[in-house]
Amino acid sequence: MRRDDVRNIAIIAHVDHGKTTLVDCLLRQSGEFRESQLRGDCILDSNELERERGITILAKNIALPYAGRKINIIDTPGHADFGGEVERVLRMADGALVLVDAAEGPMPQTRFVLSKALECKLKPIVVVNKIDRPEARPHEVVDEVLDLFIDLGIDDEELDFPYIFASARDGFATEDPEVPGDSIHPLLDLVVEHIPGPEVEAEEPLQMLVTTLDWSEYVGRIAVGRIMAGSITRGQQVAMIGRDATRQEKITQLYVFDKLGRAEVDTASAGDIVALVGLEKVEIGDTICDVEAERPLPRLDVDPPTIEMVFRTNTSPLVGREGKYVTSRNLRDRLIKELERNVALRVAPIEGTESFAVSGRGLLHLSVLIETMRREGYELAIGKPRVITRVRDGVHEEPFETLVVEVPPEQTGPVMELVGARRGQTIDVTTRGNFTHLVFSIPARGLIGLRTRLLNATQGQAIIHHRFESYRPLEGEIEQRANGVLVSMTGGKAVAFGLDGLQDRAELFVGPGDEIYEGMIVGENSRGNDMVVNPSKEKKLTNMRASGSDRNILLKPPRQLTLETALEYIAEDELAEVTPTKIRLRKILLS
Ligand code: GDP
Repeated sequence: MRRDDVRNIAIIAHVDHGKTTLVDCLLRQSGEFRESQLRGDCILDSNELERERGITILAKNIALPYAGRKINIIDTPGHADFGGEVERVLRMADGALVLVDAAEGPMPQTRFVLSKALECKLKPIVVVNKIDRPEARPHEVVDEVLDLFIDLGIDDEELDFPYIFASARDGFATEDPEVPGDSIHPLLDLVVEHIPGPEVEAEEPLQMLVTTLDWSEYVGRIAVGRIMAGSITRGQQVAMIGRDATRQEKITQLYVFDKLGRAEVDTASAGDIVALVGLEKVEIGDTICDVEAERPLPRLDVDPPTIEMVFRTNTSPLVGREGKYVTSRNLRDRLIKELERNVALRVAPIEGTESFAVSGRGLLHLSVLIETMRREGYELAIGKPRVITRVRDGVHEEPFETLVVEVPPEQTGPVMELVGARRGQTIDVTTRGNFTHLVFSIPARGLIGLRTRLLNATQGQAIIHHRFESYRPLEGEIEQRANGVLVSMTGGKAVAFGLDGLQDRAELFVGPGDEIYEGMIVGENSRGNDMVVNPSKEKKLTNMRASGSDRNILLKPPRQLTLETALEYIAEDELAEVTPTKIRLRKILLS
């Protein structure tokens, strides 16, 4: 049975193509609300880091009333997928708005989410946005999206997808890009008409798959998901079928989404996307059901972490503490808070120390966390990334991942070479249209440092994803040195990162604008102290030369790096090559 009073749709968009503006516009035009209620954080707004990296990190949901129906809008994470989140989120929806900039056209980075959406059988509606732009080429962009769908292997009969033109900024959608409209309603009409209502088993006992976890200071853990069958009532005792055991807890509060975020309700039924409070033991992938009728749905688990790093507060005597949060207590509280939402992350205190072992889905996953914390004002030292191995029945095992790389066909050679050199085995190569889709099986340790290399080898065009595959017996030894320390300071000045502890070397800098530089200028000042100069300050070097100090060495031209690349370098000890002379820094002068 299908419900007609609800539509569940996901929005898929490249960063900057107008998702926030569109959702804002939909909210404004879809019913009664007070202007003041819309300010604040109720509207989707990407955080600064998401924008810079071109990825969406958190998924947020809202709902709007339209034509007697409720339209749930599910925000999808962008191309960064840490542990299978994209797929879990998409499973809640029946359709997808594919939002594309009318000038830029579809971006390769959205291919992954789009292909997942099509795999999950979501009905697409293409929205060509920003048609008010002078550079807009609306019809061409529709053709490009069509080509993209063909590339993704969509069948001919399914190619007949609806599309519409819009200017989210000016607040309208229209069928004819030459004729601006006066409201966004034509888009909502398309949604109602083309996206099916949720298929439900209303009369069956309750079944709901927990898709996402959220957390709030006031109520604790919040389980989010779509009810597939039956209904839920506030106060109800439910069974949670977990991986190993079934537990029972009581739902103390029940929420559905609304225009301003969440609204508390007494009951919700199949087809609704709900948030449940009171289930402290619930995990992603659990099925929630009636205590008398346990019917598990197939699990959609979170991939296990494969990379671990030690986090501790900065205790280096060489650098002053400049951050806002510098104590172990600060660090602990922040990491515990992070765990509530960042479901693929694990944090464990290391006994007898003030350090924490933090593990996640790869270097990108961990570096997003580190960078976020650094920007918030946390000052921390981070150990070298290492692969998480395990012992089963006396056998040492290491994690393997399924790696998917998408590149233009002419670049498959360098990709296969790089992946092959890291013990990656080719599973599948398919070329469709402008992209070749390569699938490999690779040890997780082989992924360290691979992303940067793949991007370099393909002029930035490779699109890279990986999912957990399995543990396999360890071949050879994994060298696990624990001495790498990365000190990240937050005072806004230049910062040095050291490889073997700051006492020995410093090779990476964070500049005044938070940018990270590779390479440095080292010299000795007139008092005989070694000094490190922010690489952007060439002039300083010249002055040092002029003042009679001739032991200046320019190690490598400064180059801007992302934190992830910096971590890759540290993981691989590559910086050792960059610094042939081991320089002992007695004093660091940050300029
Ligand atoms: P998001 O990253 O996808 O959430 O994109 P935003 O909604 O933040 O929009 C990115 C930029 O595009 C902002 O500067 C918006 O003002 C602008 N923008 C969004 N929609 C339109 C539109 O329809 N026309 C024009 N000209 N600009 C738009």
